[in-house]
Amino acid sequence: MHFKDLGLDQRLLKKLSHMAFSQATEIQQQAIPVAIAGKDLLASSKTGSGKTLAFLLPAMQRMYRGKPFTKRDPRVVILTPTRELAKQVYAQLRTLNAGTPYDSTLIVGGENFNDQVKALRNDPMFVVATPGRLADHLEHRSTHLNGLEMLIMDEADRMLDLGFAPELRQIHQAADHRRRQTLMFSATLDDPEVIDIASEMLNDPKRIAVGHAA
Ligand code: ADP
Ligand code: MG
Repeated sequence: MHFKDLGLDQRLLKKLSHMAFSQATEIQQQAIPVAIAGKDLLASSKTGSGKTLAFLLPAMQRMYRGKPFTKRDPRVVILTPTRELAKQVYAQLRTLNAGTPYDSTLIVGGENFNDQVKALRNDPMFVVATPGRLADHLEHRSTHLNGLEMLIMDEADRMLDLGFAPELRQIHQAADHRRRQTLMFSATLDDPEVIDIASEMLNDPKRIAVGHAA
């Protein structure tokens, strides 16, 4: 199936064609229309199956098409378990976002805290973060999540394995629950900790499992 059959904005389709991507992967085919429709999502598929675009494209579409809840604060937060993964997601986001007014920042441990405070004060629309450092910034009040429209958890099972459940709850609680859309990606959907956190954070989610039973 081609990306153009998934309901994506023309501007995104143009970017994809520049990246020489034409066919959507299975997880992208299933997840993108659901996410674009505004539904919460609990999804799994194997490594290398293209999950990053499955959440970045709907997040960007929301910026193109949606009205902001507020003028300030991040509108999309993407959480990943490690700095390296955050950097990879951030790099893809920057490529897709080139030439748009939508700015983004990377908030991970091991980098200068005060530089991140400054970056957050500029009210970036997208924040790609590891949970620990973003939670530190919430405590420090470098940013608020009152205007958050999308919370995306990439590799949620690994974040839980690394002990980030308290930080995930803290970030979730800082955001407005009524209006927010939440997308959760995980290698497994049957892990008890994943089931728990999904039931706390997701609102009537669509479950998608590609390539294995969920
Ligand atoms: P996952 O998160 O599921 O492990 P990634 O999102 O990291 O997978 O994607 C793996 C690789 O596949 C990346 O190099 C990415 O650019 C590429 N990719 C993603 N979607 C497509 C597509 N529709 N067509 C071709 N390559 C793709
Ligand atoms: Mg991935």
